[in-house]
Amino acid sequence: MKICETMISKRLKLSKYAFIIESDFGYIIYSSATGAIIKISEKQYEDRTRALLTDCDDIIMEEDDDYIRVLFDSGILVPYDRDEYSYQRFLYEQIFAGDRVLKLTLLTTRQCNLRCIYCYEKHKDEYMNDEIFGNIITMIEKHFKNRVYNGVSISLFGGEPFCNFDDVYKFLLEVQKICKENNCSFACEATTNGVLVTPDRFEKLIRVGCTNYQISVDGVKETHDKHRVRVDGSGSWDIIMSNLKYMKKTSHMFKVIIRTNFDEEIIERAEEFYQYVKDNFDDDRFTIYYENIKKLGGENDKKLTSMSTVEKMVANISISELLERNNLKCELTESRSQPFGQMCPAIKHNSYVVDCDGTIMKCTLSIDDEINKVGKITDEGIIVFDYDRLSKWMIPNCEHAECKECKILPLCLGRNCVNSVAHGNDFYCNYTAHEIELEEMIKSKIN
Ligand code: SF4
Ligand code: SF4
Repeated sequence: MKICETMISKRLKLSKYAFIIESDFGYIIYSSATGAIIKISEKQYEDRTRALLTDCDDIIMEEDDDYIRVLFDSGILVPYDRDEYSYQRFLYEQIFAGDRVLKLTLLTTRQCNLRCIYCYEKHKDEYMNDEIFGNIITMIEKHFKNRVYNGVSISLFGGEPFCNFDDVYKFLLEVQKICKENNCSFACEATTNGVLVTPDRFEKLIRVGCTNYQISVDGVKETHDKHRVRVDGSGSWDIIMSNLKYMKKTSHMFKVIIRTNFDEEIIERAEEFYQYVKDNFDDDRFTIYYENIKKLGGENDKKLTSMSTVEKMVANISISELLERNNLKCELTESRSQPFGQMCPAIKHNSYVVDCDGTIMKCTLSIDDEINKVGKITDEGIIVFDYDRLSKWMIPNCEHAECKECKILPLCLGRNCVNSVAHGNDFYCNYTAHEIELEEMIKSKIN
C-alpha cells in the first residue's frame, strides 16, 4: 500500500524524527521517518531554515511556499496534530502487512569449509536433502496457486550454503521455473564465504538468478587468513580474491557486499585494506558492509574479547571516514538510514528460516534454540506452526519509554533484537550512541 497524504494540514511542526546535522559545507537535514536527506549551505540555513526549524513549533504552510513544501514532502515538517509514534506503528502495519513476497532463508547445510575463529555454528554434517528441497518447492507452489504470495525471495545461508552446490543449484532451477509458470517474482541472494564461488559456479548461479552476494573479507591478507581459516588450517584469502576478481571481470548484473567483521587487529590495518578494495573493486557492483565481531553464543565466545559500545562507535566512525576518503559505497549507510532499515527481519510475518531438516525458525542466530523452532514443513508442503512460539517473535518491541522518545524509532521499531525479546530478556538500548553513529553515517554519505 502506498501512503499518500491527500488532506494536507496547513499547520505544521518539526518532526521529532528530523535531524539537523552540522557538516563541513553547512547543514544536512535528515528524516529517519522517510530517509530523505537535504543538503543546505550555511547561508540558506541562516537565511531561513534556522528560524524555521529551531525557533518554531507551529508553522503555517502557504500555497506558494515551495521551501516549506519540500520540507513537508521530505517528512522534516509534519502535520501539527500528528502523533508521530502511533503514525510509525500504523505505517509498519500497512507496509509490511501488504508485502506478499515470501522470504525464505535456507540453511542448506550446517557444515562449512572454513573454521572462522569467531563462528557460532557447530559445523554438523547435516545437509538439506532432496525430500526437504521438494517440500519447500511444493509449499511455494501452493502459496502461489492460493494467491497467498506473489513472489519468493530465497536467501542461501549456512554453514556454507554452497557446500552442497549441485543440490542447491537444482533447487534454484526448479524454483525459478515455478515462478515463471505462475507469473511470480523470484530473487535469490547468498551469504557465503566466497571460497566455493569459483568462475564456473558463479556463471551457473547468475543464470539461475542468484545475483546478490555477501562475502566476508576480514581485512588485509594477514588478518583475514588469521580470522577466516580453512578446515586444514590454511588461509582463505587467495581463493576468495581470485573469485571476486573473476566476478568483477564479467559484465553480469550482480551485487557483492564485501563484509568485514572487525576487531582491534583488523581496525589497525583498515586503511591499507580499504585502499586495496579501492584499487581492486572500484565498481558500482561492489559495496562495503562492516560489523564488529560479536559473541553470538557459540563455543568460540570464550576466546573473544568484546568491544564496549563506545569502542564500537569510535571504530564505526573511523571506518566510515576511511570509506568516505576512498569514495567507497557503504551498504550500511544506504540501507540503515532508510525507514525500517535497522529492523530485525525475524519480526516480519512473511520471513522464515528453514533448517536443513525442514524445521521452520525465525532467527538465523539461535539455530539450536528450542524457542526458535516455530514449525515444521510437511511432505505436503504445509507448515505446521507452534503458534505460542511464533507469537513471541512477531510482536513489535517498541513500547519502552526509550523507544517512544527515540529519534531513530522509524528505522528499528524497537532495535533490541526480537531474539532477545523472545527469550524474555530485559530491554537495554544505548540509543544515544546509535543516534550519534547514524549522524556520522549520514555525514560520510553526503560529504
Ligand atoms: S564461513 Fe561462516 S559458517 Fe563458515 S566458519 Fe566462517 S563464519 Fe562460520
Ligand atoms: S530506543 Fe533503541 S530499540 Fe528503541 S527505537 Fe530507539 S534505537 Fe530502537
